[in-house]
Amino acid sequence: EAKRNGRGRVSRYRAGMLEAAASRQTLEADLERALERAEFHLAYQPFLSLPDDRIIGFEALIRWEHPTRGLVPPPAFIPLSEETGQIVLIGKWVLETACREAATWAVHRHVAVNVSPVQLRSPLFLSHVTNALAQSGLAPSRLEIELTETAMVEDGTEVARVLRDLRTLGVKIAMDDFGTGYSSLAHLRDFPLDRIKIDRSFVMAAATDRHCMAVLTAITQMGKMLEIPTLAEGVETDEELALLRSLGCDAVQGYLIGRPGRLCAGVDDPWRHVAGAA
Ligand code: C2E
Ligand code: MG
Ligand code: MG
Ligand code: MG
Repeated sequence: EAKRNGRGRVSRYRAGMLEAAASRQTLEADLERALERAEFHLAYQPFLSLPDDRIIGFEALIRWEHPTRGLVPPPAFIPLSEETGQIVLIGKWVLETACREAATWAVHRHVAVNVSPVQLRSPLFLSHVTNALAQSGLAPSRLEIELTETAMVEDGTEVARVLRDLRTLGVKIAMDDFGTGYSSLAHLRDFPLDRIKIDRSFVMAAATDRHCMAVLTAITQMGKMLEIPTLAEGVETDEELALLRSLGCDAVQGYLIGRPGRLCAGVDDPWRHVAGAA
C-alpha cells in the first residue's frame, strides 16, 4: 500500500516534470514566432523628478500578448529568451520600437530601455543602438539604457568598453534594481553612470525596517556625493513618496505616479495613457 502510494507520487512527479518540459518547449517555440507575428508591444511607465514634480521620462516595459495564454509577464519569458539567445533580437525590437515611439512624443522626455546582460555581451548590441537612433532620429541624449548589476560583474573590462562607447554616442546609462544584485561599490567607481535606480524592496520595507531605512538613506547620500542622481522604484503610497522627498531622492517611479500603459503618440503630451492599458 505504502509502496503503491510512493509509486503514485513518483509518476505524478514525473508527469509534472514532463508537462513542465513540454510547456517550456511550446513557450520557446511560440517565443520564436512572437516577433514576426507582432505579439509584442511596449508599455510605458513615467518617472517623476523631485522636488519639482515633473515627469522627466518613461520606462519602456515589454508586453507579450500570447494568442492563447493572454498577457505573459516579462519574468515568464525574458530568462528563457536569454537562455536561447532570442533576447538579442527581442532586445533589438525593443530598442527600435522605443526610439521610434519616443521620437513621436510631443514633449521630449527620456525613454528608458532595459537591456539584458546577454544582449549587452552580443557583438551586435552597439550597432542595434546606433541603428535604432539613426532610423528614428531620436536624440541620443533622450535614450537611457537600464542595466542590472549582474550585467556589470560579468566580464568587467568588456562591459566597461561598451558603456564608454554608449557614452560617446551620447546615450545615458542607468543602474537598475540597485542593491539587489552582486552590489559592489566598485561599479559606481568604474562605470560612468547617469542614474541609480534603487530597488523597490528597499522602498517597500523602509517604513517598517530600520535597516532598510538605513540602506535607503545611505544610497541616497552616496548618490549625492558621487553626483549621480538616484531614483526610487516601486513607490506605491503617499507615505513612501514623503519619505523619499525628505531623504532628498532625485526621482521616483511607481504605481502612485503612474502604472505602465500605452501612450497616445503624437498629439500633445506623452503623459496621456490610453484608458485600460496594462
Ligand atoms: P524593472 O526594469 O525593474 O521594471 C520595473 C518593474 O516593476 C515592472 O514590471 C513594473 O511594471 C513594476 N512596477 C513599477 N512600479 C511598481 C509598483 O509601484 N509596484 C509594483 N509592485 N511593481 C511596480 P514588469 O513590466 O513586469 O517587468 C519586470 C522586469 O522585466 C523588469 O524589471 C525588467 O527587468 C524586465 N523587463 C521588462 N521589459 C524588458 C525589456 O524590454 N527587456 C529586458 N531585457 N527586460 C525587460
Ligand atoms: Mg528597469
Ligand atoms: Mg528596475
Ligand atoms: Mg526592480
